Amino acid sequence: MPGFELFGDKERKQVNDVLDSGVLMRYGFDGMRNGHWKAKELEKALEKRMQVNHAQLVSSGTAALTVALACAKVGAGDEVILPTFTFVASFEAVLSVGAVPILVDVDDTLTLDPIAVEKAITNKTKVVMPVHMCGSMADLAPLKVICEKHGLILLEDACQAIGGSYEGKPLGSYGDLGCFSFDYVKTITCGEGGAVITNNQEFYKLADQYSDHGHDHIGKDRGAEGHPILGYNYRISELHAAVGLAQIERLDDFIATQKRNYTILKEALEQIPEVSFRRVPKNGVENYSFLSFFLPTEEMARKTIKAFSENGVDACFYWFNNNWHYYRKWEHLKDLNSLNGFSKELREGLPNYNMSDFSISDQWVGRNISCLIKLGWSEDEVIARANNMSNLIKKQLS
Ligand SMILES: *Cc1c(COP(=O)(O)O)cnc(C)c1O
Repeated sequence: MPGFELFGDKERKQVNDVLDSGVLMRYGFDGMRNGHWKAKELEKALEKRMQVNHAQLVSSGTAALTVALACAKVGAGDEVILPTFTFVASFEAVLSVGAVPILVDVDDTLTLDPIAVEKAITNKTKVVMPVHMCGSMADLAPLKVICEKHGLILLEDACQAIGGSYEGKPLGSYGDLGCFSFDYVKTITCGEGGAVITNNQEFYKLADQYSDHGHDHIGKDRGAEGHPILGYNYRISELHAAVGLAQIERLDDFIATQKRNYTILKEALEQIPEVSFRRVPKNGVENYSFLSFFLPTEEMARKTIKAFSENGVDACFYWFNNNWHYYRKWEHLKDLNSLNGFSKELREGLPNYNMSDFSISDQWVGRNISCLIKLGWSEDEVIARANNMSNLIKKQLS
């Protein structure tokens, strides 16, 4: 998946444009910048590739989620439904706007189960946040129906899924708001960076203002700009945007390479009847950044991942035991270890995460192994890896 694997002349050229002008700031300095507006250009490129009216670049994926929630006016005591399997950033963003993360079970898609979502809705629910973990999506059509029925916002955390699609729409563009991350390990990278995409003009206006101290970006004189709302600084720099501009041009090539490598691995593992695969919803196309499969039991999955690591099969993850991506090891959330406390609304709204029953998620994630698909592998290397993985899995099963 990582764009950093194929980093080179195109990125260097874009960055040098910025270094030559010396304007590292995305706004203002019109006279000095020799016509270079890397952040604006990357926003235009994202709008085109994602088929949306608006893209707002920000400093990270976490910032994108925070800005998306803020521009949808999600705040004190509002509930946001998200899956037990995600990166910690998803709930960090929710907490940072004073809202309550409500974790619900995943299904065989490894992301939000629509039935579990509907059950979790209360009169405080404001947002449903599917997280397209490891490059594939939830059943988005039923989630959209649920959101429309209850008047909720559908916010896609597409940080790991850029380049995938659903019903012909790029992931991130299907809901009311979509978020991407361009951190160093994502499919395409800016070093650090993120984006909010939307077709909603009002959300976009507020995202643009909120991410730059509430400035309205009207008129030529930065110092005379109005600030209609209180904001924050979530700006991306021109240097980071320049890297992203080179990378987004390569996105479709990256996806094609991932698809080739993914397909070789999948075709090999398909020969093993006991192995099943993560369900990709009908009309969904993943971005092939990971191959995620299930073993018949948790014990078998544990034995397999151990055999992989002892026999040189790197880049595979057993998320069930992972500190960052699965609720079991989120002690900081369970113990509410906040540095500065929580508002009364937030404290009163928070569920007791230690008492929650996520045994259904455990049954899926406990049997899952996800293998990162690298861009740099040659076809021969992938074939050798596929054989090695198949043999090791068969050994555990026998
Ligand atoms: C990486 C990631 C984020 C956060 O992105 P950063 O750019 O690292 O802040 C959020 N959600 C998911 C699912 C991610 O994988």
